[in-house]
Amino acid sequence: MQPQPPPRSRIRRRRVAAQSVVTALTLAVSTSAGTGHLTAPTTAGPINLARSSALVPCMIHGGLDVQMTEGLPTPSGYSRSTGTVRALTLMVDFSDAPGQGTAMDRFHEFFPQTQEWFRTASYGRLDYRPETPVTGWLRMPKSFRAYGIERGAPFDPGYRDLVQDIVAAADPKVDFRSYDLLNVLVTPNAGPSALDTVLSVTFAGNDDAPVADGVRIANASFVYSRQDDGSGSFSRTGYRVLPHENGHTFGLPDLYTQEGGGSVGHWDIMSEDWGANNDLLGWHKWKLGWLDGGQVGCAAAKGSAEYTLSPLYRPDGGKLILIPVTARTTYAMEVRAQGGNDEAVCRPGVLIYKIDATVDTGRGPVSVFDSHRDSGGCTRSPNVHAELSDAPFTPGETFKDPRHGIKVQVMSTDEDENYVVRVTRG
Ligand SMILES: [Zn+2]
Repeated sequence: MQPQPPPRSRIRRRRVAAQSVVTALTLAVSTSAGTGHLTAPTTAGPINLARSSALVPCMIHGGLDVQMTEGLPTPSGYSRSTGTVRALTLMVDFSDAPGQGTAMDRFHEFFPQTQEWFRTASYGRLDYRPETPVTGWLRMPKSFRAYGIERGAPFDPGYRDLVQDIVAAADPKVDFRSYDLLNVLVTPNAGPSALDTVLSVTFAGNDDAPVADGVRIANASFVYSRQDDGSGSFSRTGYRVLPHENGHTFGLPDLYTQEGGGSVGHWDIMSEDWGANNDLLGWHKWKLGWLDGGQVGCAAAKGSAEYTLSPLYRPDGGKLILIPVTARTTYAMEVRAQGGNDEAVCRPGVLIYKIDATVDTGRGPVSVFDSHRDSGGCTRSPNVHAELSDAPFTPGETFKDPRHGIKVQVMSTDEDENYVVRVTRG
């Protein structure tokens, strides 16, 4: 997005539960191009829009030692995140955890909500197609216990065995070349309750994954148990673990840390995927190819400029302003208001955060600035990090980074919740 005329100018793993402490586990991830479709599209989103030269200074990038980086462009090896994405979705069970109900009942815990979530979040740019060529439970040859799967389990040997067994069981009915990613919906009675331990995990950009029909199963999300916090919202919100896991298949890192959701709060599904619905940060939408270059502003030059931002949930208008600090770090800002996937916003305004492309998944690559520190927040919604719920800045409020000579002033808003923001760089 351009300033306006005026002034001038590998995977990772997952979460945890309910409101208690969140422990992040980081599994080894590798990211490299593979042979097949499940492996990697190379034309993942951001690349084409980022080509605008005005935006280049804002395309921060990390180092080679970062497994999953916020940097641009997203490395190859992940699933495409624009256009039609075909998600092979298989339901599996075990002799010591036989499927409860029908496999399609399990499928419908996640669909159609997950595809609707992506359609809304991407403004229609991601056409997510879950496909179930096998509609019954796929019985694994070994017991669940025998795979040795526990929280934080690495790919080898348990998951490798499981993927190989899934491939063998499904192969007669499945052409693995037809899909962009794999969802494995495990019978919910296998393993512990999600309230105790969240096993759900994604192996993404995995160039060492088993091959099926000539393609590598490089991007696979496994969902266990049910993320039911007992608040009565499960049927409405329990699916949200899947868009979180699939976010990893598109190359997004975890934003929660060992301390929980205190870095980003409920402002991104990669931070909190329990409870009320939420969206992705504007940075993630740009990274995934869901924003036009014209919707992103890059305030790299000295001076002052004003920008108008419309709420992130709406498709039109300016969405994201970036203020790069180094080649690896940038400030970002966007307007968050209630609408679309953002259903828990209790204080609309301009959300300001910092992104560090050198910080790995689960270590806090993004930090939101709280305009009202130690206020306790404005939400009482369960599973929504309360303190950061009132983080957005409103008219009259100013954010400053004196060290880098950066000032952001929220100037005004209108009845359509558009905000005018002035960025000054000294
Ligand atoms: Zn995760």
